[in-house]
Amino acid sequence: MPENRGMPHAVSRLRAERLARSAKPFLARGGFKRERCPDCRLVPSHCMCALRPSLTTRAGVCLIMADIEPLKPTNTGWLVADVVPDTFAFGWKRTEADPGLLALLADPQWQPYVVFPGQYVAPPERVVQSVQPSTGGAAARRPLFVLLDATWTEARKMFRRSPYLDPFPVLSLEPEQMSQYKLRRSGRDDHFCTSEVAALCMSLAGEHLAGQALEAYLAAFTHHYLQAKNQQPVDWQSAGHRRLREVFDGASSRSGDAPLPSAAMAAPCGAVDGCA
Ligand SMILES: [Zn+2]
Repeated sequence: MPENRGMPHAVSRLRAERLARSAKPFLARGGFKRERCPDCRLVPSHCMCALRPSLTTRAGVCLIMADIEPLKPTNTGWLVADVVPDTFAFGWKRTEADPGLLALLADPQWQPYVVFPGQYVAPPERVVQSVQPSTGGAAARRPLFVLLDATWTEARKMFRRSPYLDPFPVLSLEPEQMSQYKLRRSGRDDHFCTSEVAALCMSLAGEHLAGQALEAYLAAFTHHYLQAKNQQPVDWQSAGHRRLREVFDGASSRSGDAPLPSAAMAAPCGAVDGCA
């Protein structure tokens, strides 16, 4: 069981770098300005660090983040980094590619998949709908899902202006997969936030535990965030908290270890502003 707590993850480090570069302190629009836990970004009374799962995945996630994205308190790339141990994060620049990003994409242990809607991709031969199963042989490359963490307008620009992504297949999430996913969550439009996209990718790679953990963890985060914003206490029996426990209870009854403390979650993702 890897220890992925206690050390700032890739999104946390990117946030710190971005803050260090900003001339004036960033005040989240509509956010709360009280002290925040550095590890989950919530006020201490609503800290959800105890819920952070510890799991192992073969697939990884590479977040390419629009400039302001790491600073948003509702950015869900952060949650991906909480759950998926091999999460990498880079800031996107129009003029140059981060050397670390190029090195990661060139690393032969990974098979990058750029996740983007197929109808915007040329040539169409680049588009794939499935992933080499993560349980492939030792020689098989590990799937690395490259997610553009940005608004839709920014993401399209990033996709067009990042020629270093051109050699890789584009994984297009199909309406069928999307709608199946939507059935399982309550009333939302068809906008998916970064952690939901990552959850779908993990499921496609055969990483069902990670996919379910990401879904439940997002629901827990949404609950904690909204309760803090509305100055209401956390309900540790909320639907999201219960779901998170179910996911790991199911996993531990299969594998014999229990990765989650007996803490306890509910609101659908759409309730978090900026989560789209
Ligand atoms: Zn915390």
